[in-house]
Amino acid sequence: AGTARIAAVSGPGHTADGTPVRLLVNIGTVDDATKTGPIDSEGVGLLRTEFMYLGKTSEPSLDEQTASYTAVLEQFAGRRVVVRTLDAGSDKPLPFLDLGTEENPALGVRGLRIGTAFPQTLATQLTALARAGEATGAELWVMAPMVATVDEAAGFAALARESGLTQVGAMIEIPAAALRAADLLAQLDFVSIGTNDLSQYTCAVDRLAGGLAQLLDPWQPAVLDLIAMVGAAGAAAGKSVGVCGEAASDPTLAPVLVGLGVTSLSMSAPALPAVRAALAAVDMQRCQDAADAARAARNPQAGRAAVAAIIGRT
Ligand code: PEP
Ligand code: MG
Repeated sequence: AGTARIAAVSGPGHTADGTPVRLLVNIGTVDDATKTGPIDSEGVGLLRTEFMYLGKTSEPSLDEQTASYTAVLEQFAGRRVVVRTLDAGSDKPLPFLDLGTEENPALGVRGLRIGTAFPQTLATQLTALARAGEATGAELWVMAPMVATVDEAAGFAALARESGLTQVGAMIEIPAAALRAADLLAQLDFVSIGTNDLSQYTCAVDRLAGGLAQLLDPWQPAVLDLIAMVGAAGAAAGKSVGVCGEAASDPTLAPVLVGLGVTSLSMSAPALPAVRAALAAVDMQRCQDAADAARAARNPQAGRAAVAAIIGRT
């Protein structure tokens, strides 16, 4: 029955009662864009630009970056492409950015903080993106990773807009940003929740440490509470709230996220059909009931079981 249901749905994402939920793909390279461009999606919800820089010993030039971003955007003409500025540092070091040695790199200079340490690197990237956006027919949105404060969001938005970019957002992956989502959104056009890092920082567990995996779980009620705050802030502001972490690819969690106020889900391409089918099978009331049950649960296991019963998955 599962496969029949999956085969029956295609096109833009929506709940059973017609609320749109934009379904997007996560990519990292021009090659990924070429492969995922033709598939049935509403665009890209996360282009991890640091993947285009990995292995380079010197910073790619403005022209080189413009050409790469243009090649990606060309695959998605008429669709949205959300590009994340460099999220180097911590688990993703880049040889041409000397960040020194840090005791706790996950709490150090990474994400948007790179832009403060290396302002020219961020400026060049924003200029390259603006040029690529002008040259192609894709709807370019640009966001910063690892934003903690309103001042950081405002500073990034100002830089991006000065560069000519019009849709500017931030990732919500630090609890401080989730708690202040309404204030961040006042500076921004959209936000996208990175549940991988949000889980890491909420439960204070290293995402690279396999032994602590049970704590690194987006089903943790505390993580869902933070997502609910962001969803409510987005609804109040009438702005888009995405999820682009691994959580978005879980067909049981997807209705919960929608019930919490998330309006788009971005995932690896193979996960898309099952998430699309799961959403098409539940109406908005059921998504909200699922969200309430997951937040009321004592732990991730109980939450998943309660939600599975509500949405009729086994
Ligand atoms: C996240 O943290 O959830 C995310 C999407 O970013 P990354 O996995 O690249 O850190
Ligand atoms: Mg992240």
